[in-house]
Amino acid sequence: MLKKLIVVMLVLGSSVAAQTPSRAKASPPKSLRLYVFDCGMLTISTEGVTRYHVTPAEVGEARMPVPCFLVAHPKGTLMWDVGVIPDETVEKQASAGGARYDVNSTAAALVKRTLKSQLAEVGYSPADITYVAVSHAHKDHTANLNQFAASTWLVRPAEREFMWKPANERVEPSFFNRLEKSKSISMEKDEYDVFGDGTVIVKAAPGHTPAHQVLVLRLGSTGRVMLGGDLYHYPPERTLHRAPPDNEFNVQQSAASRTAIEEYLTKTKTTIWIQHDFKTIENLKKSPAYYD
Ligand SMILES: [Zn+2]
Repeated sequence: MLKKLIVVMLVLGSSVAAQTPSRAKASPPKSLRLYVFDCGMLTISTEGVTRYHVTPAEVGEARMPVPCFLVAHPKGTLMWDVGVIPDETVEKQASAGGARYDVNSTAAALVKRTLKSQLAEVGYSPADITYVAVSHAHKDHTANLNQFAASTWLVRPAEREFMWKPANERVEPSFFNRLEKSKSISMEKDEYDVFGDGTVIVKAAPGHTPAHQVLVLRLGSTGRVMLGGDLYHYPPERTLHRAPPDNEFNVQQSAASRTAIEEYLTKTKTTIWIQHDFKTIENLKKSPAYYD
C-alpha cells in the first residue's frame, strides 16, 4: 500500500513538473516590444507627499508603484530601471509575504516578485540582456543593477560620478558595485539612439540627479511613449505646474528639463508615462503581455 502511494506521488510529482517546463529562450522579436514588470510599491508618508509641492488631497492615491521595463528590439534588449530591493533579498523574504525596505524616512518599499522570475517568464535571463540603463541612480531604480554586470551599461559621466561620490545618501553602492568594471557606453549628447534606428532613444532630463534621463520609444502600434523616470512623481505636479521638490540635485535644472520635455512631448506627439504614478502603472498591461 505504501509502495503504491509512493508511486502515485511520484507520478503526480512528475506531471506537475511537466506543466511548468523551464521556458525556452526568447528569440528576437520582428518589431519593437515593451514589457512592464512589477518591481514593488512604495508607501509614502504625508510628509513625503508634500515634498513634491502637492497635497494628499490633490494626489488622492499617495502610493507609488515601482515598475521595471524590458525593451526587446530585433537587434537586442534593454533593461530600463531595475527595482528597489535586490532579488536575493526578495527570495529570502518570500515566506514573510515580501521584502520590505525603507528607502528613506518617508518612503517604505514592499516587493513581492523578483525581477529575474518575471524576465524568465518571457524567456530572458539577466545574462541575456544586451544593454542596461536607469533613469537615475536613486535607490528605488537601481536595486538589481549588479545582476546586469555582463550587459553594456549606458551611462552619462555625471551620473557615474554621482554614484561613487563618497557618503552620497541618495544611492546604495552595494546595488551596483559590480558595474564599476562593466563594459559601458558613455553618453555625452542630449540623445542616444540605442539601436541606431530611432526607435529607442535615451534622452537627457537632468536635475532630479546630475544626469537624470528619460526613455523615448517608437512602438509600431502603440505609438510614441516616453518612460519619464522621476521627472514627475504625481500627475498634479505636472497639471498644476508645481515647482520641483526642494531636495532635487538641482531645482533650476529640473524646472528647465520639465519645460524642455513638455515642448518635446508636444512637438513629437509623445505620451509620457510617469513611472511612479499609481493610476498610470495600474492600467498598463503587465508582462507576459507586452506593448508593440
Ligand atoms: Zn523614484
